[in-house]
Amino acid sequence: MANANVMDKIVSLAKRRGFVFQSSEIYGGLGSVWDYGPLGVELKKNLKERWWRSMVYQRDDIEGVDAAILMHPKVWEASGHVSGFTDPLVDCKQCKHRFRADDPRLKGTPGEPDAQCPVCGNKGTLTAPRLFNLMFKTFMGPVEEQAAVVYLRPETAQGIYVNYLNVLQSSRQKIPFGIAQIGKAFRNEITPGNFTFRTREFEQMEMQFFVKPGEDERWFEEWKAARMQWHADLGITAARLRFHPHAKDELAHYAKAAFDIEYEFPFGWQEFEGIHNRTDFDLGRHQEHSGKKLDYLDPATNTRFLPYVIETSLGADRLALVTLVDAYTEEEVEGEQRVVLRFLPAIAPIKAGVFPLVKKDGMPEFATRLAADLRHHLTVFYDDGGSIGRRYRRQDEAGTPFGITVDGQTLEDQTVTVRDRDTLRQERVAAVGLLAYLQARLVG
Ligand code: ATP
Repeated sequence: MANANVMDKIVSLAKRRGFVFQSSEIYGGLGSVWDYGPLGVELKKNLKERWWRSMVYQRDDIEGVDAAILMHPKVWEASGHVSGFTDPLVDCKQCKHRFRADDPRLKGTPGEPDAQCPVCGNKGTLTAPRLFNLMFKTFMGPVEEQAAVVYLRPETAQGIYVNYLNVLQSSRQKIPFGIAQIGKAFRNEITPGNFTFRTREFEQMEMQFFVKPGEDERWFEEWKAARMQWHADLGITAARLRFHPHAKDELAHYAKAAFDIEYEFPFGWQEFEGIHNRTDFDLGRHQEHSGKKLDYLDPATNTRFLPYVIETSLGADRLALVTLVDAYTEEEVEGEQRVVLRFLPAIAPIKAGVFPLVKKDGMPEFATRLAADLRHHLTVFYDDGGSIGRRYRRQDEAGTPFGITVDGQTLEDQTVTVRDRDTLRQERVAAVGLLAYLQARLVG
């Protein structure tokens, strides 16, 4: 399968089956903004819940928060985003396309006559690189003036830093401890694209772990390993995962060390999670800009210090794309092509399809009752349309791990068949024990 081709197929499947739609599609779409459909919203929700469970519920040293998207504008001065969150850009005066200055397609020196626009092919039409701030601005209150400017947050992390003391005091945590958050972030990306990989509105799942200086390197290693293991447990193909260490010249202004976790997408290796040692940069800056003391009194030694921060920052949308791409499989079964999404059963949008073999002899009634019972516990799709083979295929494409069929024997002995999406093996299971059987196979 050619790689570009695979991506096209995934994008088209995502639309056809209701994972992802272009935003405002009937108006021609809005650049690099996407909506999740019925299956996509379930996939993303399952991923976010899984992350939250592993961070907040399964540990006693991490607390959750949900900070507002709008924050005091001084936050973004302190964080360095007002002055530093910029990409150098090049415009084509002819065709009006915009490029990052490091776009490999640009030939020659932008601003000089020899430079050639990769879209319209004209020479000498590219401007010299100019800095462009990636934050979305809006106005707070009735007057649209400079003093009323607020920003849509470009990352969730700052909502954690500014609440660090509140959480510390209200939760009675002690250092080392962490704060986790899932929320929207906005960046006016210049060269978005590759479907949902780089979008202007996206969701981040971030965790900031506050540690004693000197213990930061140990915690950095610990979180690096833990995050990679988390993706392995999600069933992502090991050969398509790797670490990418940031070289000195790649490091963000605040970071002492940084590793990306990358996935091999059809369009190449790309970051989808970052693990950063942010030192005491952020708390230090907020202390300076707010004038509020943010240091920590260590009860063990009675000394004060400004904690260091180890951050794990994962894009929920990028993770959803990783799981979609990794799950996508084309194979031949009994002489027929099938497309199947091999999601880890626990994250599949629909857990079970329920099918009466034929639409008579009480099978639809039995199957309807069975689906209604299961629905109290699992996401279920009832389907009585078309041949049983076609119904199985439809669920394969949605990534549904179990196909439950009510047939003639069901009416005699109250057993159903359960078809496994991946092995295609069918087992007969008593209807009364079906829920427990499915739940046991959904763990993990
Ligand atoms: P990139 O180099 O791809 O722009 P970044 O290094 O700026 O990303 P971070 O600021 O470290 O990214 O953000 C952490 C995570 O947030 C990324 O790994 C990614 O999963 C997600 N993310 C960042 N920008 C976007 C975006 N425009 N669209 C979707 N997800 C994003």
